[in-house]
Amino acid sequence: MWWLEPPNALPAWQRATTAVAPDRELRVPPLSRFPLPGGQVALVDSDTGGWCVTDDVEAGLLTEGRRFSNAIGSAWTTQAWRRGLLRDGDRHVLGDADLAGEAAACRDTYGLVLLLNGGCNLVCTYCYLGHETPSKKRMIDLSLAEEAIRSALQRPEEQIIVDLGEIAVSNPHWRHLATYTREVAASSPGEVRLTVQTNGTTLDQSSVDFLAQHEVTVGLSLDGPARHHDRARMFRTGAGSHELAVRALERCAKTGVSTHLIATVARHNVAVPELVVGELLSHRPGSYLLKPVLAHGEAATAWDREGVTSDEYASFMERAIRAAVESGGALDQSAAKFAQRLLGERRGWADGCTSRQCGSGRSLHVVASDGEVFACPRFVTGGTGFRPPGRLSLPLLLADSLRAVPESCAGCPWLRSCGGGCTLSGHDGTRGTVPLPDPQCTAYQVMHEVLLRQVIAPAALGADGLVNGRVKRCSVRPDHLIESESR
Ligand code: SF4
Ligand code: SF4
Repeated sequence: MWWLEPPNALPAWQRATTAVAPDRELRVPPLSRFPLPGGQVALVDSDTGGWCVTDDVEAGLLTEGRRFSNAIGSAWTTQAWRRGLLRDGDRHVLGDADLAGEAAACRDTYGLVLLLNGGCNLVCTYCYLGHETPSKKRMIDLSLAEEAIRSALQRPEEQIIVDLGEIAVSNPHWRHLATYTREVAASSPGEVRLTVQTNGTTLDQSSVDFLAQHEVTVGLSLDGPARHHDRARMFRTGAGSHELAVRALERCAKTGVSTHLIATVARHNVAVPELVVGELLSHRPGSYLLKPVLAHGEAATAWDREGVTSDEYASFMERAIRAAVESGGALDQSAAKFAQRLLGERRGWADGCTSRQCGSGRSLHVVASDGEVFACPRFVTGGTGFRPPGRLSLPLLLADSLRAVPESCAGCPWLRSCGGGCTLSGHDGTRGTVPLPDPQCTAYQVMHEVLLRQVIAPAALGADGLVNGRVKRCSVRPDHLIESESR
């Protein structure tokens, strides 16, 4: 049996690594099985989220209902117990541990996103905000933005992220607010990080120098090579924005500004994941995210032309993960989080997205240019906003019941790391309180499976890459188990 132990596991998984297996008959629960190319099998338990890689002999031993005597204290049985793959009656190694609560407790970051201007200089085909032209009257009220920043800096979380949204059309406001945030943050106890988002079209050297001086991370939208990017991300003239975006990236790289690249997956690039990943990795970003288009705003209007199905996004992500692994490049942010969670690593839960344990509406708020407050920057339309009656307040948005995992997730082998999908994708668009299935469920399943087969199992079996000295590679052989097992 092979498995991996991360450096900073959730408390319940840390305790499990030294647990003593009960000196009684232990039973194998139903386990999901994933055959691997080398003849081994990966096994996953949906209740605990425990997994291991076995050879075919061990896989045959770990079949549902088989019972083992642990009287001899076999190291193998002990490890199967510690991995959450055996039962003592109905009990398992995690006992009554509240894994969802432990995951939620890892959220040590508060995020405030300000949407400074209600218009944009591009008319991207899938924009969820609409195609208003940028104008002074659509600019956020500066005193409101400053109030929101001051409120954010009073939060108890260890790290506060202030994101100034799209800056292409909000000069000089974004510069003022970046300076203001740094000034107020000087007397704030927590770590304060500043980020901006941009399409890159206005990011000249003076802006990049300013960003470097204020230690701002840049989130830049890049949907792949020019011929794909330009089909969706264009000016009102119809001209594409790829060249300007890439020039902006080059300036950031030369000036030492950290970048995070975001590719929206829609009709224009869903067939070419390898090209998208190749283009994004070629710019050596600090991180990148491949996110599916949502049927909001302009994308909803043009869904037949621009939208993609859940199966198409799933296939895109499967190929994108393979492409990243085969090129030796980093995984996209959502795949990396799922991989960390499969290992039990706390970092995978730092913001909880994607899962029902995310911070939306509690440790994540969006203030739109007209003062309306939303729970998540991906969902600033659809009726989940709140307009404070007086002074700006950052309210607790969304009913607690929305955090519950939908019934459709019962028995899913990935439940512990996926956490039931996105809180707001599974929302009825009003103030409803019943958690609905996430439409991207197929993609999450495919991503987990490919991560297990392509990244985690190979690392447990000895491949380089994921382990890199931090994640501990572990193994144990059955020894005398075959003789001592009983039915
Ligand atoms: S959303 Fe899908 S992948 Fe995620 S836990 Fe539910 S059933 Fe599993
Ligand atoms: S609502 Fe969805 S996209 Fe937004 S933070 Fe939560 S899980 Fe992430």
